[in-house]
Amino acid sequence: MRVPPASCTPGDSRMFTIEVSHASGGIVRRSLKQMLVTYSSLSATLQLIRNSGARVLRITPHQQANNSPSTPSAAVTETPSPKAKDHGQVPVNLYKPKDPFLGTVLDNYSLLADGAIGRVNHITFDLSGGNLHYVEGQSIGIIPDGEDANGKPHKLRLYSIASTRHGDNLEGSTVSLCVRQLEYKNEAGEQIYGVCSSFLCDIEPGAKVKITGPVGKEMLLPPDEDANVIMLATGTGIAPMRAYLRRMFEPGEQGKNPEYKFKGKAWLFMGVPKTPNLLYEDDFSRYLSDYPENFRYTKAISREQENPSGGRMYIQDRVTEHADEIFALIEDPKTHVYMCGLRGMEPGIDEAMTAAAAKSGQDWSTLRPALKKADRWHVETY
Ligand SMILES: Cc1cc2nc3c(=O)[nH]c(=O)nc-3n(C[C@H](O)[C@H](O)[C@H](O)COP(=O)(O)OP(=O)(O)OC[C@H]3O[C@@H](n4cnc5c(N)ncnc54)[C@H](O)[C@@H]3O)c2cc1C
Repeated sequence: MRVPPASCTPGDSRMFTIEVSHASGGIVRRSLKQMLVTYSSLSATLQLIRNSGARVLRITPHQQANNSPSTPSAAVTETPSPKAKDHGQVPVNLYKPKDPFLGTVLDNYSLLADGAIGRVNHITFDLSGGNLHYVEGQSIGIIPDGEDANGKPHKLRLYSIASTRHGDNLEGSTVSLCVRQLEYKNEAGEQIYGVCSSFLCDIEPGAKVKITGPVGKEMLLPPDEDANVIMLATGTGIAPMRAYLRRMFEPGEQGKNPEYKFKGKAWLFMGVPKTPNLLYEDDFSRYLSDYPENFRYTKAISREQENPSGGRMYIQDRVTEHADEIFALIEDPKTHVYMCGLRGMEPGIDEAMTAAAAKSGQDWSTLRPALKKADRWHVETY
């Protein structure tokens, strides 16, 4: 593949080496090209590379191109997040598939506005009478009614919890989910709907549902009130972020959490196809006006907004756009990054972070494991 040379603005001397892989006759080849890419043209060049079907493996500042990869900043390697692993008693597997809790549906409504694509519902279950409790960032399992094609009971599916530990009604006895109905066309062109997501989106209040869990420690919020939290969500990946933001900014929640008064910066990047697909928008708008110093909200609406190259605006384009600020925050050992949504979002985010890191003179392939080790890089994709 030929990588088109990027333009160079006179006066901006920064250069980056972009390492690109491309498939040729089924074989993935690595090619190394050195290009003059200015700060302002880096993202456009990356878009061109992406459009050509190639994959960006690494971007290194020119000064380091001929040396070993840059090392991450001291802030990342040497200073772990304060109390990073101090998550207290996190409940896990209180209910197992052989003996699930029977929750009662309290509410089930669409989160989408007119003109949205697909179907996404907010569903709340009553947990009273049992011992199912959880903390923000965990998931629960749902076992749909009925049997699979082999006549066996359906297996459980996991869903990220969208409510705080206090539940939407703050009484501590409910759990809420944000569920997208899976739909796709199979090879024969037939419309297929997912078993459990359809079961949940169709379920009526009053119905009993088999619930397992909770599970998961990957997406837990740090207990520090002055942590910074960068959230990268696509679609229903907003579920854990909604829980975090309620914990931080919802007035009723604050009354329930005297030991937690969020004082850091929370920055939500949200990717959806169309404006009517934005989820929990009214709540987030309220948090923005109530906490302008603490909450920032950046949207990527792929079918309505254009990226600098004229293509669709995806969440990774927003990450590239705000690279400097993101990496200034990441330098701070109190900053955590959370990513949640469809697995397909990972390569794009990785590419954007590679470019963003390079702009601040760092190598993402070294930095990411360091952040992970410091318990500051949290990913849950499905
Ligand atoms: C930790 C975790 C958290 C999750 N959180 C959420 C959440 O908050 N909200 C949410 O909505 N989902 C979430 N999920 C996904 C959820 O668990 C289910 O996978 C999803 O709802 C689909 O289940 P289903 O029973 O409806 O689909 P199924 O009937 O099980 O069908 C899924 C199968 O369909 C096939 N398939 C899917 N898409 C296509 C396609 N385009 N072309 C061909 N075949 C295809 C694949 O074989 C796939 O395995 C999460 C998953 C995990 C692991």
